[in-house]
Amino acid sequence: MESRWNDAARPDLGDDLALRVYTSRLLGADKTLVLHGGGNTSVKCTETNLLGDAEEILYVKGSGWDLETIEAAGFSPVRMEPLKRLAQLPALSDPEMVNELATRMTRATAPAPSVEAILHAILPYPFVDHTHADAFIAISNTADGEARIRECYGDRVVIVPYVMPGFDLARLAAQRFAAEAGPRTIGMALCNHGLFSFGGTARESYERMIELVGDAERYLARHRAWDVTLPAPQAEAAPGLEQAVLRQTISQAAGFPMLLMRRDDARARAFAQRPDVAELAGQGPATPDHVIRTKRVPMIGRDVAGYVEAYRAYFARHEPQAKERKTMLDPAPRVVLDPALGLLAAGRSAKDATIVGEIYEHTIDVILRATALGGYRALPERDLFDVEYWDLEQAKLRKAGKPAPFAGEIALVTGAASGIGAACVAALLARGAAVVGLDRDPAIETLHRRPDYLGIACDVTDVAGLRRALARATAAYGGVDMLVCNAGIFPGGRRIADLADAEWRNVLSVNLDANLALLREAHPLLKRAPRNGRVVIVGSKNVPAPGPGAAAYSASKAALTQLARVAALEWGDDGIRVNTVHPNAVFDTGIWTEAVLAERARHYGLSVNDYKRNNVLHVEITSRDVAELVAEMCGPLFAGTTGAQVPIDGGNDRVI
Ligand code: ZN
Repeated sequence: MESRWNDAARPDLGDDLALRVYTSRLLGADKTLVLHGGGNTSVKCTETNLLGDAEEILYVKGSGWDLETIEAAGFSPVRMEPLKRLAQLPALSDPEMVNELATRMTRATAPAPSVEAILHAILPYPFVDHTHADAFIAISNTADGEARIRECYGDRVVIVPYVMPGFDLARLAAQRFAAEAGPRTIGMALCNHGLFSFGGTARESYERMIELVGDAERYLARHRAWDVTLPAPQAEAAPGLEQAVLRQTISQAAGFPMLLMRRDDARARAFAQRPDVAELAGQGPATPDHVIRTKRVPMIGRDVAGYVEAYRAYFARHEPQAKERKTMLDPAPRVVLDPALGLLAAGRSAKDATIVGEIYEHTIDVILRATALGGYRALPERDLFDVEYWDLEQAKLRKAGKPAPFAGEIALVTGAASGIGAACVAALLARGAAVVGLDRDPAIETLHRRPDYLGIACDVTDVAGLRRALARATAAYGGVDMLVCNAGIFPGGRRIADLADAEWRNVLSVNLDANLALLREAHPLLKRAPRNGRVVIVGSKNVPAPGPGAAAYSASKAALTQLARVAALEWGDDGIRVNTVHPNAVFDTGIWTEAVLAERARHYGLSVNDYKRNNVLHVEITSRDVAELVAEMCGPLFAGTTGAQVPIDGGNDRVI
């Protein structure tokens, strides 16, 4: 553990808040110190208010901010005077504390201060840093954790036994600090939770944290518990349907669809293959704040019913003693350790599932190191229950609001690099789906850079390539729930008298044959969609109203439409809906260059503008309009519709 302090990159030494931002980010950049919103930091400043009074202000990390990316606006300014007096109270409930913190701020629009604000306030140093460092937690989560912490740090830290974060912890920490802090004290060790460091400057406080965590790492190394090697895992199962089946079962247990993302992590797979994995992982998470994301224990193997039963029993064991009656959260697992599939993480969004997966990879390291030290021991499940069913956390979940319409679902779009396909990707992402985009154009891979998008360069006429793409989609997110068959080609106009066999076959192979293969290969996945599979075929106005010179295109789209109708009939028993849209004259696609558009308009004796609106309603139809219809057809509005063909063309007098 090295200090990342860099004199060339640091802000001006006179600006305490800027320095606070700087060293907070240094902590946040190291995932072995803090993960996803974990940890917090503060600085105490004196400021003069509008009335001319000097006030001492605690700038403490606000909720919803991550140390890695925090800005000055992410720190909540709270008046120190009332905080110090609150710390003297014999008791303060969580809702009272949250209210006091919120009403003692000097900026009304600041985020809610960290629940550890009072703890920061009682420490008599300008800068305070707090992490949940993996190395420290590995030492603490053992049978003789407290003795080991003492052995590691001597009198440089004040040790505080485990208490749930909030007012009681702040009070206990204040008492321990008052009784035990000495001239050599540079930090505080919160058992089963994390480390505090403090100092007169940003650099001092930060580098003391690095020193304390470095000591924990060296302690583990001395005890041969730092580099824990695992035997190479047995071969990975071929990616496939079993992951989609597991996702379906987990989603059913949850009561809503969830992604099930597989981590590409040989170490986690080796851990999942240990004969004692149930015993080790069954102890509980590394720190209590992980329980909210990962649940108390992972599911070992694929017995979802068994997991749900155990979760219900865990709830029943603790709920009767809870101060207020709690409502049981969904009983589905968030972490799966499967000997064949390795580590899988479930979540309602790719972001959530990615966070769960990362947290558990760190948990595995903590467990292995603590085991090497003599035995991993998590907190008693009662303490973990209290955090999982903590009112403040539940309130945060309620505040998060209603999930997006396609949260936890997966869509696959072909021909997705441009035009209608790219617009479909955007419309589905906007509705909360994870989206897999396929296209021949390698630009598909970077169409979006976000965890809920996967772009795969793939020629849809290559069946083996399609199979590989479906396998990658399944490994990445857990299946395919919505399929948008959009890829197609429109060759230049050619009369039948001049139409060569090769051109005809080429158009049919892309527009028709490839879709048969895709439908066939995707069917087992669509069948496992937690909210039933949906297919939308992008047809064409040419199906009901063909034009001369477009024999191959019109015939291919007509056959595709017929294929969709048969699929609707065959797959009704599987709950899969298959519908077709027939767009016309969508000009913001790759086919329609400015020159082609001008030429066609001239051909009809129209201006480009009139040509674009040459329909019954005189409206221009864009890729986005088509995509919105496609997305809605996957949604509840069309829940009772299959085998339908809906035009999106502004009205066409040959069709109407
Ligand atoms: Zn903490």
